Amino acid sequence: MAIGVHNVTKRFGDFVALNDVSLAIPTGSLTVLLGPSGSGKSTLLRVIAGLEQPDSGEVAIFGLDSTALPPQKRGVGFVFQHYASFKRMTVRDNVAFGMKIQKRPKQEIRARVDELLELVQLQGLAGRYPSQLSGGQRQRMALARALAVEPKVLLLDEPFGALDARVRKELRAWLRRLHDEVHVTTVLVTHDQEEAMEVADRIAVVNHGRIEQYGKPRDLYEHPATEFVMTFVGPVTRFGEAYIRPHDLEVELEPNARYEEATVEKVVHLGFEVRVELALAEGEHLEAQLTKREAERLELLEGQRVFVRPSRLTEVEEDAPGARVAS
Ligand code: ADP
Ligand code: MG
Repeated sequence: MAIGVHNVTKRFGDFVALNDVSLAIPTGSLTVLLGPSGSGKSTLLRVIAGLEQPDSGEVAIFGLDSTALPPQKRGVGFVFQHYASFKRMTVRDNVAFGMKIQKRPKQEIRARVDELLELVQLQGLAGRYPSQLSGGQRQRMALARALAVEPKVLLLDEPFGALDARVRKELRAWLRRLHDEVHVTTVLVTHDQEEAMEVADRIAVVNHGRIEQYGKPRDLYEHPATEFVMTFVGPVTRFGEAYIRPHDLEVELEPNARYEEATVEKVVHLGFEVRVELALAEGEHLEAQLTKREAERLELLEGQRVFVRPSRLTEVEEDAPGARVAS
């Protein structure tokens, strides 16, 4: 176990930011803390880093009770959304900074920086200044700098949050590959469920200072432990009393006893995916997600009458894997 969080509570005045949180993060994993803004993700990460002191509870890093240790004694590397680089230092010197503080031999520093710049694909840019890098390149430099001092754990707080959607997508694929190469235990904070699903070995869903579920991405998607997890991880639409995934809604043109009648309100072509907004006879709205091929077969038009049925219900499972970890 790389990180053990035991019954951590953190208050800011009267506000409870973390409410009796426990979490065990396995060595070598890439764990994501996923939750809406204000749910307590950054606070939890900062408690692990030693940047915040919990009111009660303990943090252990590789079995060592670290609750009272200052950040620099915990062996953690940190990257924030807005990375503070040294503007008057080159990329090389930025990455080398921590090793210079540690007074490592010059030869070693040089070799290690070269290795890291290659790892983050910035070889050739060593002589540039941060202002001469793109946002994505700057965040990769930040990662190289955090990795330079060989942290036992790497803590990333929305490191790609300030970048545009395309660069973010590239960087998350890149982070996944980097982690597969380096295997340093990594905790990534994000509010983006797609990002979480794409990179994580494990996801802890954080809501109102508690962990609602902790498990593999697929378990959260298929066996959500709470209504919050179901609605936050993956799309949902309501069908009567039930929640369903929009891709589990079947749409047909011919009437059929087991189907309900609906009207097509809007068809949104998103490429591979086509989103269809529908209204049932009683006026209730719901959404179907079709593949491009299905949509072409149906040739749906706005105002058209169709017949729908859920092929599968997604139900909250109180005994889902990883449910109620914080209780
Ligand atoms: P997240 O990272 O999930 O968006 P945070 O952990 O940053 O959420 O914050 C959780 C809650 O705690 C928020 O409501 C925030 O306003 C509050 N909070 C965080 N840090 C402080 C602080 N230093 N002082 C007062 N309130 C804080
Ligand atoms: Mg945050």
